[in-house]
Amino acid sequence: MYTLLNLPPDDQECFELTLRQLYPEGVRCPWKLHEAVTVTATYLWCKCCRRKWSLKMQLGFGYSKLSWRQILALVICWLGKQSPGDIMVSTGLSYTTTLRWLERLRSRLPMEQDSLAGLLETDQSYLGRQKYHNQHIVMGLVDRQTNQVRLAEIPDCEQDSVEGFLDRYAVVGGLIFADAHGSHLGLREVGYDLDICNHSLGHFGPTNRIENVWSCLDRFTRRTRDRFMHQFLPGLLQEFQARRNHPEIFADPFTLLKSMAVPV
Ligand SMILES: [Zn+2]
Repeated sequence: MYTLLNLPPDDQECFELTLRQLYPEGVRCPWKLHEAVTVTATYLWCKCCRRKWSLKMQLGFGYSKLSWRQILALVICWLGKQSPGDIMVSTGLSYTTTLRWLERLRSRLPMEQDSLAGLLETDQSYLGRQKYHNQHIVMGLVDRQTNQVRLAEIPDCEQDSVEGFLDRYAVVGGLIFADAHGSHLGLREVGYDLDICNHSLGHFGPTNRIENVWSCLDRFTRRTRDRFMHQFLPGLLQEFQARRNHPEIFADPFTLLKSMAVPV
């Protein structure tokens, strides 16, 4: 397990550690996977392709002034769901730079494109505080069999917004479990099977998975942001979904780094 405490203090050692972790069987070139690669302090050279590349560039940190130690510290803290304020202290980056990097890293996580089918739970939740005119509605969908999640912001809880979200993320014909909100009642007419539970009568059982998503999302939002701001909502939802739907890429800092590699 990697923590800030066992991270080498020296930048060159951090670079070598990264190389060893990313290529446990020896460095391969990114174009044809050649093994004849020379490693220098600043670049990697494939003797067969006669081309050089930079590991920083490959991992999406090209042109950045971040040292290898800062890159690893950033990824370790981010993986540990630290707030930007805490990450700033651990990495020595400025607050603005930390925020910018977190947004960039989030945008490289997998985007959920596929619709869900089968037994699905849906609901809406509010993020942020109304008192500060900073409250936004998030709609969610959970697949009961696979636990896959889809989340998106919707402008309001009107029927059109709710149906628009389901149109995008739920395959018609699925059985949808939802509460008795008015916007759910018309879902049968657009092709879904519907099982309504009445929260006001204390019936929570059929939607407890999506209720669980809301409590996790709430905790995630409060923990990873010093202050909830609307501009961060898309990135926040993308990261939350990636962590839930693809836990394997969050196994350790190097797997996470590798998953975010870009073509060089
Ligand atoms: Zn090559």
